Amino acid sequence: MRFCRFGDNRLGLVEGANVRDVTTAFEVIPRQGYPFPTHDLFIENLDEVAARAREIASSAPSIPLAGLKFLSPVANPSKVVGAPINYQKHLDEVKSNAELHHNNEQHFAAIHKMGLFLKASSSLVGPGEGIALRKLDRRNDHEVELAAIIGKRCDRVSKEDALKYVAGYAIGLDLTIRGPEERSLRKSSDTYTVLGPWMVTADEIPNPGQLDLKIAVNGEIRQNSNTRYMILGVPELIEFASAFYTLNPGDIIVTGTPEGVSPIEPGDTIVATIEKIGSMEVKVRAA
Ligand code: MN
Repeated sequence: MRFCRFGDNRLGLVEGANVRDVTTAFEVIPRQGYPFPTHDLFIENLDEVAARAREIASSAPSIPLAGLKFLSPVANPSKVVGAPINYQKHLDEVKSNAELHHNNEQHFAAIHKMGLFLKASSSLVGPGEGIALRKLDRRNDHEVELAAIIGKRCDRVSKEDALKYVAGYAIGLDLTIRGPEERSLRKSSDTYTVLGPWMVTADEIPNPGQLDLKIAVNGEIRQNSNTRYMILGVPELIEFASAFYTLNPGDIIVTGTPEGVSPIEPGDTIVATIEKIGSMEVKVRAA
């Protein structure tokens, strides 16, 4: 199943070129009071929401996908986990370009040595909200990444068990301000994490390690690879992350970007595509 959030927080079930507005399926989510949970309640209750959505879909309004404003399919992740340099050819390009590594060894070590980083959850938007660039005196780069969305709470899981905890996948953009500071600062600006256009449930993608992914800027292909070239695959990333902290329903792992990162500027239009998920268009503006 493919779930999107669109417009003014509507829940959509994507069917071909149309979407069924199944927002009332959110009513199966148990009511909450203060202090509200700090994880995503839609994803935590995905099985129940999906069951209700299936019941009501055939009588729900059908709307063309074209022209919809897509929000992030996950509204409230407790964290966004990043994978630094998780493709060998991207590691090679960073090593060879001081504009990318700023002579900081932390910027060009392999992921095994470097570990993972966190992005502020306040950086998250959907493709319809666009990217608002800051620090225009510096280089800002696009990174297209497969995003895995955690479905069930997990702590210290093995890579063999890891995929059982995944709710689904989406296209992720991990935008980056270049510079000497830590990644968490440079990648956490508002709108610097884009998730969309919808979440494809994990049953439709049994092997996340075999998906073509690409990104075009103003119609020009800049990155074009396959997730089989990831150094650590989705199961290994979940094992790695959950060895250090609990992963909660709705947590997002952006799994690293292949070679071909390049600058973006206000006025650009980005189209990112991942096999078995789809495509999303994102407009770039100045903050
Ligand atoms: Mn990245």
